[in-house]
Amino acid sequence: MADTIQDGLVVIMHYTLKNAEGEVLDTSDGDDPMPYMHGVGNIVPGLETALTGKAVGEKVSVVVAPEDGYGEASGVPDQGVPRDQFPADLEIEPEMEFIADANDGDMIPVWVTRVTADEVFLTTDHPLAGETLHFDIEVVAVREATESEKEHGHPHGVDGTDEHHDH
Ligand code: ZN
Repeated sequence: MADTIQDGLVVIMHYTLKNAEGEVLDTSDGDDPMPYMHGVGNIVPGLETALTGKAVGEKVSVVVAPEDGYGEASGVPDQGVPRDQFPADLEIEPEMEFIADANDGDMIPVWVTRVTADEVFLTTDHPLAGETLHFDIEVVAVREATESEKEHGHPHGVDGTDEHHDH
């Protein structure tokens, strides 16, 4: 039975993410703990590194610099795309993520910054780019990944049986 965090294992954690001002940006507090697969980039690199070898029950506070988090802000202005290039029935909101076809054929993530009557503005900067991230983590459980999870490179829920996840 695994009890420390190693590559390929599924980690179940409670987390609170604050920015440098101490404002809570995201938390699992009051909700189910979050599963992720360790060592495959499910979480930001700085947090993943800090959690390696931690034991079940440990509480860890980690400060992650932008370059080990969601990257530095690029400084490139956001770019407008006609609204009709998106599904008409989709409600588009700031910070939504889409996968865009880059000119060289690569698929890159982009995020919505703002929406006007006829355009959706997109940036390649993650909404938390440039932020120093302050994580408070509690390691709730560690378990082996199922075969299907290993294939997909992400957990299927806390116990590995969740069939309803996006890819
Ligand atoms: Zn999957």
